[in-house]
Amino acid sequence: MKIFCIGRNYVDHAKELNNPVPKRPLVFMKPPTALLLKGRPMFYPDFTQELHYECEVVLKIGKNGKRVKEEFAERYIKEVALGIDFTARDIQRQCKEKGHPWEIAKGFNSSAPLSEFSPYEAFDPSSIKFRLDKNGETVQQGDTADMIFNFSKIISHISQYFTLNLGDLIYTGTPAGVGEVKIGDSLDGYLENKHILRCKIK
Ligand code: ZN
Repeated sequence: MKIFCIGRNYVDHAKELNNPVPKRPLVFMKPPTALLLKGRPMFYPDFTQELHYECEVVLKIGKNGKRVKEEFAERYIKEVALGIDFTARDIQRQCKEKGHPWEIAKGFNSSAPLSEFSPYEAFDPSSIKFRLDKNGETVQQGDTADMIFNFSKIISHISQYFTLNLGDLIYTGTPAGVGEVKIGDSLDGYLENKHILRCKIK
């Protein structure tokens, strides 16, 4: 199982980190050991002083394919969930400055909390609304209508380089409002106003 992530897929988030808006989807990966399931807590890693949440809509792939054309790409989506792309922002900054790969800032253990999945048919993919609360206060509000690259473009792009397999996951990018967590914080994620994700920082 592979976990793909898309960076800078919302203009307002690219701008808040002073990043240019990409011309093509920016793809990176996390290993399966990054997954954090069933509302388990995140233990604050000792190698960072700046752990950031990024709340994202996550797609599960329902069939194998490569070099998928955009017009057929939706057929590859089976289910939808909500996830967090935890990022060690201080380490990511160092990696970017040196032009190094940023896996250690993005793919570490438990860096990818994930909710339960719902069938893709239950959603209008052109506008899925989601949000993240930190300690009961809303910190991120997103709508897939604001994505720079929609689901079909993302799937088509990824599949030009990587064969998609049943069960692969795609974290589709985060809207503005990313920020730090500290030990003791609680994160709650909502997909279409339904509370489906909880992550406590310990
Ligand atoms: Zn992200």
